[in-house]
Amino acid sequence: MKFKIAGVIMYILCCTVLLVAGCKRAEVEPVAGLKVVTTLFPLYDFARTIAGDKAQVTMLLPPGVEPHTFEPKPEEMIRISRAGLFIYTSRYMEPWADKIISGLDSKTLRVINAGEKASYRKASERDQHKGSKGSDEHSHDRKVMDPHIWLDFSNASQMVDAILEGFVAADPANSALYRLNADTLKTRLTALDQRYQNRLKTCFTRKLLHGGHYTFAYLADRYNLDYRALSGISSDSEPSAERMIALVREIKLSGATYLFAEELLSPRLTETLAKEAGVGVLMLHGAHNVSRDDISRSVTYFDLMEHNLEQLQKGLSCRSR
Ligand SMILES: [Zn+2]
Repeated sequence: MKFKIAGVIMYILCCTVLLVAGCKRAEVEPVAGLKVVTTLFPLYDFARTIAGDKAQVTMLLPPGVEPHTFEPKPEEMIRISRAGLFIYTSRYMEPWADKIISGLDSKTLRVINAGEKASYRKASERDQHKGSKGSDEHSHDRKVMDPHIWLDFSNASQMVDAILEGFVAADPANSALYRLNADTLKTRLTALDQRYQNRLKTCFTRKLLHGGHYTFAYLADRYNLDYRALSGISSDSEPSAERMIALVREIKLSGATYLFAEELLSPRLTETLAKEAGVGVLMLHGAHNVSRDDISRSVTYFDLMEHNLEQLQKGLSCRSR
């Protein structure tokens, strides 16, 4: 009997110890070591893949937030200053970055401009102003380079290289793993580019008509599509009535059967224009940022790009290969 009671006490003690240990584990931050802060979603996704389990990567942009008008709040600046590595896209996408970085008093922070070696396309006068009422001032401020470089997969590969350079410099002890993970990413980008090349070769129409801001010019240039968007290179630009009428006319003349809508904005305007033109609506994701839902589903850059390819194949009536 004594033996039985001692056994029960031992059992309760063991359970209590395990429970406390379990609670403590849950309170501890999952990863120590290098802390990395990125701005846009593609940078975040590339950086977390390169990091594996050796660094803690976070995205500065809160889920669903409009990226072109985003500027970090004081608490977000503190997050940047406490990181070992801060990665942004370019001064065309984050015009606030240079000023904030030069003002930070951090001896340990390393900063990477991921778009430094990318090939930029200059936004033409028409791209910037495309009937938008509010974008002119912004376009001039941003020296009129199109900031959507991550939508050209060759540029995306250059960005992976730049991000890798940052990881290797900040944490040389794990450089072999970082290089391996970056190589895997670049191989996937090459395969993705090949799929786009093959599948967009055989489309009934090459006209990519977009009821959003001027996001997909890099993609259109790379795959020889003729791109038209409703508004300018920044998503805060408002389209004019003339531009809306012109787009509806263009849809009707082109014989297109779909108008593409952009993510993170209400599709109401695109739907109204599509109805007016008698065509359907399909979503194309610019991948600047993702929604809270996307985060909880662990969506990746590659998921978004594969989905875009399916939408393009349907919207431009391309043959599957
Ligand atoms: Zn944009």
